[in-house]
Amino acid sequence: MGSYDVIIIGGGPGGYVAAERLGHAKKRVLLLEKSALGGTCLNVGCIPTKTLINSAKIYAHAREGERFGVKADLLRFDWPTMQAWKREVVEKLRGGIAATEKRLGVEVRAGAGRLLGSGRVEARAPQGAVEVHEAPHVIVATGSAPVLPPIPGCRGNPKVVDSTGLLELPAMPNRLCVVGGGVIGVEFAGLFAALGCEVEVVEMMDEIVPFMDKEQAPILRKALRGVTFRLGSRVERIEGSTVHYTAKEGRSARAEADLVLMAVGRRPVLDGFGAREAGLDAPPQGVVVDERMRTNLPGVWAIGDVTGRSLLAHSASRMAEVAVSDILSGRERARSRNVMRYEAVPWVVYGMTEAAGVGLTEQEAVGRGLAVKTASLSLKVSGRFCAENGFATPGAVKVIADRSSDRILGVHLVGSYASEMIWGAAALIEQELRASDVRELIFPHPTVGEALRDAVWELA
Ligand code: NAD
Repeated sequence: MGSYDVIIIGGGPGGYVAAERLGHAKKRVLLLEKSALGGTCLNVGCIPTKTLINSAKIYAHAREGERFGVKADLLRFDWPTMQAWKREVVEKLRGGIAATEKRLGVEVRAGAGRLLGSGRVEARAPQGAVEVHEAPHVIVATGSAPVLPPIPGCRGNPKVVDSTGLLELPAMPNRLCVVGGGVIGVEFAGLFAALGCEVEVVEMMDEIVPFMDKEQAPILRKALRGVTFRLGSRVERIEGSTVHYTAKEGRSARAEADLVLMAVGRRPVLDGFGAREAGLDAPPQGVVVDERMRTNLPGVWAIGDVTGRSLLAHSASRMAEVAVSDILSGRERARSRNVMRYEAVPWVVYGMTEAAGVGLTEQEAVGRGLAVKTASLSLKVSGRFCAENGFATPGAVKVIADRSSDRILGVHLVGSYASEMIWGAAALIEQELRASDVRELIFPHPTVGEALRDAVWELA
């Protein structure tokens, strides 16, 4: 039996960030992780995907280099080397997290945590040894897992993989069918198409990445060269690696492939850690939390994907900070305004062409009854964008502002560096800046980001 200030169940970007913040505050922390430190994000999500996407980008750039005056003979890519580089990156970063936790005095243990009610957690080590630990504060950060829908032929089919399976492929397939045109579907479709694989995406909705602004999603779709999209198409069954779907007009159609990726969403992990037995309010859509990440059980907080809200690594890390702040503020709690706000959470779709956004889309703003002014510009207004991409590469920025208050409500980008620009746009929204404030900010030249400033000047 060990006694701690805080016990954290789950070592992903929610759990390990919570542990670090508590470590800085000199708290006695136990971090329990049953698989690998870093969670989905580091081991089978964000980082390995971005590593492979970067290799594909280098290949694509070299292939297209001739018009920029760079010729490469005998160009080819080597999938096993890409995989080895991916593993090296993941392992080094995992080691980095372990070293940081150690430096901050956090006790990291391999094992599955189980809530025994407020203040008590059972830890089952990989070899089966069981110990019970106590702490006045427990943080649940068990993450999410891919959804396997009840589509016939989907379960137990060796030709059907989820994103984790696709990341581990020993060899590239010639033809890939992706079920679901959301973030995962689009990122993998772009990656495999860039490496010469024939890719077909079957998406139920009328457009890819349903949360994107309706003006921008088609720009991203058209930028995904080598990918065939079947929109408004619902997958009915899978036989081997043939995907049968009902197309938009109601006719039956099929996509023939060598492999099928299921990318139809993720759901919170609510089983296996004693949530329901302990009385945690955990409906299938996620653990119910308030704005300070408190659950219905006194002394128990939940953060990250397990809450079913904003399933993004950076949201999990921010939720971790909110929970830690609540734990540390003690009696001052009621006065602390460090709460979770979802309005300014940026999102990114990575790939050869990136997309990113924050705040409201035009459709959401109008749906809320807001009178808005909008401006959309091609990224060709940016000299740097043209110099680096040529004049035929798609790229766009869209800004949405409130007509009466002039406040920036949303920023949406498609094109290079979108992922690196969007935090600045998030700051504009979080700080409730007006278009007139942004016009007074100085952006460096030449950058792609200047297009955002130009768009703000265009707001009408
Ligand atoms: P998603 O919810 O983003 O997209 C799933 C898509 O599948 C939707 O467009 C949906 O309409 C479609 N779909 C569902 N059933 C279908 C059917 N029977 N036939 C055809 N289409 C169908 O889910 P995802 O792409 O699997 O991603 C899962 C989670 O992981 C998301 O919450 C996402 O935010 C997160 N994620 C984020 C990033 C990132 O931040 N860059 C990257 C990967 C994953």
